[in-house]
Amino acid sequence: MAKQRNDVRIAFINQKGGVGKTTLALNCAAGWARLGFRVLLIDLDPQAHLTLSLSTTLGDTSLERIEEHTIEMALRREKPLTECIFDVPTEGFSLVPSHIDLSFAEGELAQELGRELLLRDALESLETDRFDLVLLDCPPSLGLLSLNALAAADEVVVPVQAQYLALQGMAQLIRIIELVQQRLHPQLRWNAVVPTMVDSRTNLSREVVEQLRKHFPSQVTSCVIPSRVKVAEAPSHGSSIFGYDPGGLAAGEIEDLCQELNERLSLEIPLPDRTS
Ligand code: ADP
Ligand code: MG
Repeated sequence: MAKQRNDVRIAFINQKGGVGKTTLALNCAAGWARLGFRVLLIDLDPQAHLTLSLSTTLGDTSLERIEEHTIEMALRREKPLTECIFDVPTEGFSLVPSHIDLSFAEGELAQELGRELLLRDALESLETDRFDLVLLDCPPSLGLLSLNALAAADEVVVPVQAQYLALQGMAQLIRIIELVQQRLHPQLRWNAVVPTMVDSRTNLSREVVEQLRKHFPSQVTSCVIPSRVKVAEAPSHGSSIFGYDPGGLAAGEIEDLCQELNERLSLEIPLPDRTS
């Protein structure tokens, strides 16, 4: 069996927008935090949906302070990443926020030598043993920011919406993952494809999940994420599914997925008596 690990970085990536990356990253962050993992969630999307949904819950801080301490500052090396970490007390994890300016930065940073390694370098400044898991919520493109996520990650999780044309774009994504493995980061592992927004009442949704399992038999998770109104509503209340509907079906489904990912990614559940 693979060695159990902590201090694992996980990229939630798919160049398609609207497939459930941000929602899944937020809910998995909360699910893992409830299992005792110390989780840092990094918003790498200039659209900053994750940041917007959590911005009212970032403890004792102002919007100005958040805007001055984003992932963009850390990638530009204007601020150390450690200064851009905000606690989300209601959820028990921490967030590095994003901002729309990140889209301009992406263009500028593209000129830099070592431009694919900016995030990996920024993460080096994190205190060792501060977080068990670092989750990277990627933008809907395979540009420089997503490449930085792949170069910095240990594991890739690909959320795929169980809809028409779900497989479209997967070949391109896999090619990029393999290129990163060949040229930048041979240890990068790709162990999870998670079907999202599954509606088991429709034939189409069921067929797409079957098709995914046929194409990626070792990656597709047994746990799928059904389409649920509560999941879509939670972020507008500044909350993961655990804060919004803790006893509901969707919270249980995320718990089950986190447990499955613990096994797939060989994550070690932290001991309960750990101090800090
Ligand atoms: P991405 O980050 O890939 O662009 P999002 O996580 O923002 O995707 O999700 C896209 C839309 O789908 C959002 O409106 C979100 O609320 C909704 N959504 C995501 N997951 C679910 C789900 N399991 N059930 C219902 N709606 C969902
Ligand atoms: Mg998103």
